[in-house]
Amino acid sequence: MNQFIYNANPSRVLFGSGTSAQLAEEISAMGCSRALLLSTPQQADLAEKTCIDIGPLATGVFTEAAMHTPVAVTCEALKSAEQTTADCLVPVGGGSTIGLSKAIALRSGLPQIAIPTTYAGSEMTPILGQTEDGVKTTQRTMKVLPEVVIYDVDLTLTLPIALSVTSGINAMAHAIEALYAENRNPVISMLAEEGIRTLYRTLGLISGKPSDIKVRSDALFGAWLCGTSLGSVGMALHHKLCHTLGGTFDLPHAETHTVLLPHVTAFNAVAVPELDALGHKLNGTSLAVSISELAKRADAPLSLATIGMPKDGLDRAAELAVSNPYFNPRKFSQGDIRKLLENAFHGTPLE
Ligand code: NAD
Repeated sequence: MNQFIYNANPSRVLFGSGTSAQLAEEISAMGCSRALLLSTPQQADLAEKTCIDIGPLATGVFTEAAMHTPVAVTCEALKSAEQTTADCLVPVGGGSTIGLSKAIALRSGLPQIAIPTTYAGSEMTPILGQTEDGVKTTQRTMKVLPEVVIYDVDLTLTLPIALSVTSGINAMAHAIEALYAENRNPVISMLAEEGIRTLYRTLGLISGKPSDIKVRSDALFGAWLCGTSLGSVGMALHHKLCHTLGGTFDLPHAETHTVLLPHVTAFNAVAVPELDALGHKLNGTSLAVSISELAKRADAPLSLATIGMPKDGLDRAAELAVSNPYFNPRKFSQGDIRKLLENAFHGTPLE
């Protein structure tokens, strides 16, 4: 076996059905008693209900979390944390809400108990992406890793089918890039492969059985494995492109991952034959085509054009993607990226 370094991220995880009922106990166990609940406006009801459930342990609710963690929203939320003298943060929601919690934690040092309701995986990572003046910047710091994560599969039952599939493909993207990360290691590769397999299987079932607790539970478990992969090793071209398009053109996060992943996987499979070996095990075809077919079967978006990418932004996107590039297993030029983006823009089918 080759030499490797493995860093385990310290977090406590509760997993199962109904686990969010243990929130009050977890707040007390952390030595806290004044939780600020966070959510998006769309999930304000869930945050309010959670607030009622924990009674005197809640000090307030801030429901303005937004995609790509705009710094202006973080400043408002920080004021709310100060005014309510919060001693811990409880984000209830997807990556946007957890991103806001991390941004507050970075600036205040407050501990976090995350309750994720999508498959995006942010809760398992020491990574924070923030957007200011149209540019998304990402940093890795242990200051933002939630201390406790409560996976309650019941809360994922309301996730719309379309978002379930795109969010699941977002999670698969973490695990796929973990397989060829510069600092990959056999422990994370094992988790990543299992995450890809589990999500591939369950996402194919969710459209027909969105309320099946076993399917939802397996999907959430797969998402946890993929999030752990993202939190442990570095990402590559695919994440760089998604961050660029998300931050600069305000494209929706999970859908952007869904459109780009088959194209980047096909590009990188030339340098990483293990990807297609895995695709053949899943579906008897390349990994890129397997993902693309999964998305097509679920009516997920297949082109950047359909999710709001302006055609005249493709040159700028390619330019940004090659400036300050992440590691990637296959070398590329700006022209390669421009071509890849053009294909993704039109949703050109993969061979
Ligand atoms: P999201 O959090 O923006 O959620 C999308 C919408 O779905 C929101 O309106 C939300 O309220 C709603 N929603 C979420 N869960 C629901 C549920 N169970 N039922 C009904 N509605 C629900 O979407 P996302 O894809 O989870 O997160 C995207 C954001 O997360 C991006 O900003 C991305 O950069 C960030 N992210 C960060 C990391 C990291 O490690 N830092 C990892 C992944 C994603």
